[in-house]
Amino acid sequence: MKLGILGGTFNPVHFGHLRAAEEARFRVNLDKVIFMPSGNPPLKALDLIDASHRYTMTRLATASNVNFVVSDIEIRQTEKSYTANTLQRLREIYPEDELFFILGIDAFLDIPNWWQPEALISMIDFIVVARPGFDLMDILKSPYVQSADSELNQFQLKSGRKAFVLQMTPLGVSSTDIRRLLREGKSIKYLLPEKVEEYIYTHNLYHP
Ligand code: ATP
Ligand code: MG
Repeated sequence: MKLGILGGTFNPVHFGHLRAAEEARFRVNLDKVIFMPSGNPPLKALDLIDASHRYTMTRLATASNVNFVVSDIEIRQTEKSYTANTLQRLREIYPEDELFFILGIDAFLDIPNWWQPEALISMIDFIVVARPGFDLMDILKSPYVQSADSELNQFQLKSGRKAFVLQMTPLGVSSTDIRRLLREGKSIKYLLPEKVEEYIYTHNLYHP
């Protein structure tokens, strides 16, 4: 099987995440996409709500897609979760499968700031998706990229791994914007699934 893994804080999950996962799925012929909400960091970042809420919202958002699953590997951990460790565990869980780590270009360019980035970059192949406000071709500035094919949609990494680059339907939605709208008491309709919207209001999340 070919499995995509989409990590994130999903604080909250929105149509940008869902569409990125869906386009990665059918363009790269993935059998499944595993959504992987991050756990609770020891020093709680401002605005980051509890992992159990972020996990439940991701479950609600993905329930209608048979190709999407949500993993609780990171949220069950009490210690800080590092992507490199999580991918190592997923490799052990799915020893026979082809794994791809899906991320937006903003997140891919941030990898040098993550824990053990060199290990991470040699562990798995990548699917890097476009995101409004970021230049996809900035991938050429990444310290991990060695060369590109002539169409600029597949990159060879110095680690020996590959990165597939996808221009996706541009959706300029972010969790940061959704949280700001909620703080300002404004509508968040049509930015995320209705079930997630209802959950946010029922549990009074992201209030001022
Ligand atoms: P925040 O504003 O809190 O950082 P976010 O909207 O960036 O939230 P994350 O949970 O940080 O969401 O993102 C998880 C992954 O999804 C990242 O790899 C990110 O690049 C990607 N992603 C998020 N929103 C979009 C979008 N609108 N289009 C493409 N990729 C996206
Ligand atoms: Mg983000």
